[in-house]
Amino acid sequence: MTTDLFDQRRVSRKLIDLSGVWRFREAVLDVNESQIITHPEGATRMYERDGIFFKHEGENPTGSFKDRGMTVAITQAVREGARAVACASTGNTSASAAAYAAQAGLRAIVFIPSGKVATGKLAQTLAYGALCLQVRGDFDAAMRLVLEASQKLGIYLVNSINPFRIEGQKTIVWELLQDLEWNPPDWIVVPAGNLGNTSAFGKALVEARDAGWISKMPRLAAIQAAGANPFYRSFRENFAQRHRVAAETVASAIRIGDPVSYDKAVASIRATNGVVEEVTDDELMIAKRDIDRMGIGCEPASATTLAGVRKLRAAGVMRDSDRIVCVLTGHLLKDPDAIAKGDIIEIEPDIRAVEKILHHRATEDTEGPL
Ligand SMILES: *Cc1c(COP(=O)(O)O)cnc(C)c1O
Repeated sequence: MTTDLFDQRRVSRKLIDLSGVWRFREAVLDVNESQIITHPEGATRMYERDGIFFKHEGENPTGSFKDRGMTVAITQAVREGARAVACASTGNTSASAAAYAAQAGLRAIVFIPSGKVATGKLAQTLAYGALCLQVRGDFDAAMRLVLEASQKLGIYLVNSINPFRIEGQKTIVWELLQDLEWNPPDWIVVPAGNLGNTSAFGKALVEARDAGWISKMPRLAAIQAAGANPFYRSFRENFAQRHRVAAETVASAIRIGDPVSYDKAVASIRATNGVVEEVTDDELMIAKRDIDRMGIGCEPASATTLAGVRKLRAAGVMRDSDRIVCVLTGHLLKDPDAIAKGDIIEIEPDIRAVEKILHHRATEDTEGPL
């Protein structure tokens, strides 16, 4: 396989070539094409703003990167004869599992931490017809319960501990390299929660280098919320020990204290000479507002990337001249409650009310009202 083959498929109209996952199929899963369950997914946009690239994985069919892994996991579940799939989720995995299970005719059972899932994600999960079990506890408790349930009750597990998920998520990296015409960036920046993506990204980069698709290894920067930072704590001690914390952050997608893919993520950071950084809720919410105001938008967890870049630049780890790709993991509309209060003024249906407000604005703002 060469990058030429992937580039040819990028302009093909075949359904599996339109998928940004299955375009790379030989390196994802050895499967008969007719067995593939694809929406299709991937083929997301790459934006450039102020010299930084943003690969927007929130533009996947259910609004998060989780679809990239889910198409592979559900394809495999059907091949193995599963009738039901299960996952623990902070919301996006459950939305994705529910959608792909519906497409494949499987039952989906999702374990979510009670009261801790953003509105948009819960609405999707229910709409796609999943059975929602709200666990009285945090994500880590839901994760332990679904692991036990899948072992004891034989339900097919589609969390990122499932290796087929990781295989699909590798394509985020390959597609962004392809977007850059296989001219690798200096840095790839990713939010870090359960560490599935961090694991997948390292694997993708090693495989791309070994296959000769790239000649230089980008460095990974995995960013955690300061209130959910077990991986950051381990990194600071050169991974001398694994940490577990009671997680709390506004970024609900990464409110995870005991990440399941810890070991593979450590390997990713080592293989790419990567770094792990933490950002406070204030820092990530300021970055989110800025990404929103660029006209791009994302959910809070995704904005850890830009907040992390700012911190790593200030610390001199990243240089201003470095080429940086931030991976935005989820869509703006996933978490409407986290959107900064904007300009809403209620008025009478009367042109004078409009004139009055615009006049008032014009005197405040030298650039004029419109
Ligand atoms: C799942 C998710 C993450 C965390 O990814 P991990 O692979 O669990 O580290 C980050 N952002 C969003 C929007 C997510 O849905």
